[in-house]
Order: sequence, then structure tokens, then C-alpha cells
Amino acid sequence: MKTVSLEQEINPWEAQAARFDLAAKKLNLDEGLWKVLRYPNREVIVHIPVQMDDGSIEVFTGFRVQHSIARGPAKGGIRYAPDVTLDEVRALASWMTWKCAVVNIPFGGAKGGVICDPRKMSKGELERMTRRYTAELVEFIGPEKDVPAPDMNTNEQVMAWMMDTFSMHMRQTVTAVVTGKPLSMGGSKGRREATGRGIMIICDEALKHLGMNREDTRVIIQGFGNVGSNAAHLMHQAGYKVIGIGEVGGGLYNPAGIDIEALWDYAGKHRTIHGFNGAEVRDTAELLVTDCDLLIPAATENQITSRNADRIKAKIIVEGANGPTTATADDILADKKVFIVPDILANAGGVTASYFEWVQDRQGYFWKESVVNEQLEHIMRESFADVVSYAQAHDVNNRIAAYMLAIDRVASTIRQRGIYA
Ligand code: GLU
Repeated sequence: MKTVSLEQEINPWEAQAARFDLAAKKLNLDEGLWKVLRYPNREVIVHIPVQMDDGSIEVFTGFRVQHSIARGPAKGGIRYAPDVTLDEVRALASWMTWKCAVVNIPFGGAKGGVICDPRKMSKGELERMTRRYTAELVEFIGPEKDVPAPDMNTNEQVMAWMMDTFSMHMRQTVTAVVTGKPLSMGGSKGRREATGRGIMIICDEALKHLGMNREDTRVIIQGFGNVGSNAAHLMHQAGYKVIGIGEVGGGLYNPAGIDIEALWDYAGKHRTIHGFNGAEVRDTAELLVTDCDLLIPAATENQITSRNADRIKAKIIVEGANGPTTATADDILADKKVFIVPDILANAGGVTASYFEWVQDRQGYFWKESVVNEQLEHIMRESFADVVSYAQAHDVNNRIAAYMLAIDRVASTIRQRGIYA
């Protein structure tokens, strides 16, 4: 095993590059394409002036990285956080390329981020920042170029402002420029729940593959944001036993199973899970290493590292977040024979429903929710089967199989298109 410093281990770009290099090597990818795919196609940095509520002017730094447009328009979310870095956005942009290729939808990969603390900003400040960020990117985004979506700390409202700003510049309404919009302006039914639903479908497939059943599967989920809460809710309804929910500032644990329906109502009312009395309080870091069958890290990057991987008890890990496991932790978990469903497959339900939204916007014809869910289920099941059989055929783990499958698909498109000179 290669030794790396913790700082290197938790750099998402390094995490992405380590997996990419390994998969590319196993694929015998030729050196030229290796160079093309290892780095993003385009990186835009913008400095966004915003008038704050008190009349002062603040300048925020924003990024949009387009990793690849080989298979279609670049696609990926935008995150707002105080600690966003270009390296992180780069890694997330390449993950989007691999994710879209794993589920075989016609998009490349991109990601955006703005360094800001949305909790400390008013709605008006957030709106002005979002609109100016969109205006700065106006020539780089568009339904055929690059289609943003929500990610950490961005939501349907932020997408509505982006859509409106872009449309004002174009002098016409362009719904397909972003996905994850409100239903009233070209959003898709089922998009909000899609990442959580996709995770449940993947968990079902993993159980089937390993000969387990829902009722005997004890689940711990880290995160109760859009992804974690919807996964918990749907899985509880489907009969899984959710025994732990981790959140910043403290988690919940009940070995008899948490009543997620009651927690869902509580969180809806109080905007937090803290104070819910149907479970005991347990530290979130502790929950990651608590005994369970299925662990779903659905919060943020670098949660399973060389520091805690050897203490993980779960038999299955389904990655709801992007990059929750470091490359070093992968090696430790492989020795422990943990069945990992990697992020680029496990959480691809969100971007898959985004694809449906983009298609519906361009068709001007909107599908019933049952159609969205049915199509989503079909793509997720098929992609799980593709990855697992690829892993068996090439004798690699699921993560490397997913990367190999994705890199192979993107590389063969580039080979056919050729390099423009
Ligand atoms: N931010 C989500 C992701 O990481 C969704 C991206 C999208 O829908 O374009 O997959």
C-alpha cells in the first residue's frame, strides 16, 4: 500500500486521480487519452461583486469546472460553502463525467462552487450573488453546453434564479439551462427524491446480490439533507430497519429501529433532527463505526479514512455522498471484504432524474411521476448489473469496475470523434 499524508489522502482531487490512474492502468488506456481525461477541459474562476443588505460591497469567488463534453453537454451541480476549493470542484467535475458514463446518459461532467457561507447571508444577498454568478457564466452554460443543478447548500430556489437570469440574458425563457428547478417552471416530478430513491434501488440490488433481505438489514445513514432524508424515508417505508442517523452536531441511534415517519415530521417542523425523542443521542463519528449491516454515508467527502476504516462494522457501504471514502480507506475496506457501491453509481439517481428533466424541458412535455420513477429504476438496476458483472469479469472491486466502465465509454467516444485540430 502506498503511504500518503492525511492532507494528501483527503484532497478530493488526489482521491479522484488515484482511482482514475488505477482504472486507466487496468484498462491499458493509451497515454494520449490518459492525458486528455486526467485533467478538466475548462476551468472558469469568477469574482462576483455583490451589494450586501447593509450597503457594503462583498466580492465572492466562484468556480465552474467543465471536465468533459465528449458524450454531451457538461452536467453537474453547484455548491455554496465557505471551504469550497478549486481542487474540490475539479474532482467533483470529473466524478460527474464518470457518473454520467456509468449510468450511460448523454452528458459530460462539470461542477461549480462559490466560496460563501449561505447560513450567514440573507435571501436577498443569496439571490444577488446567484444572479451575478450566473451572469458571469452566461457564455459558458446553456442547454447544449453545460447544465448546472443543485448540490450542497443550493436548492430549487437557487435554480429558479439561475434559470431566470440566464433567460433574461437570452431574451427568452430557457428552462433546460438548469435542472432541479421548481415544478412550476419546468422541473420534473420525482427529481427531489431521485438521489434517495436511486440509493434505495441500489441497496435492494446489493441485498439481492448478497442474498440478504430488507427486514433483517440494519441501516445507518450519515446525513439528513436532501439525499439522506429521502433515502431514510423511502427505505423505512420499504421495510428496512434504520437504526442510526448521523448529523452535524450529533446523531440518533435506536437499535430497535427509528420511526423515520415521525422523524421526518419532526425535522419538517423543527428544521433539525436534534431533540427528537424516539432515539438516543449518539456522536456521528461513533455512528460510522457502530455495528450495522448497511452504512450509507450521505453527507460530505472524506468521512471514511485511514483513521476509522479498520473499525467499520458494516457489510455493505452505499455511498450517497460524493467522495465519502478515501483511496487509502478503500484498501483497508477491501481487506475487510466490505461490499462497496461507489458514489459514481450509488448516487447517480439525482443526475439521472436531471437528465429526464432536461429531456422533458426540451420536449415541452412532462411525464407522470410513475414514469420518472420507472425509468429511474430501470437505469439504476441495469447500471448496478453492469458494474457488478464488470467487476467479476475483470477481477476488480466495484469502484474500480465503475471507473473502468466509465473511462472506457468516454475514451471510446473520444477515439471515434477524434481530436480536433
Ligand atoms: N449534484 C448532484 C450530483 O452530484 C446532481 C447533479 C445533477 O443533477 O446535475 O450528482
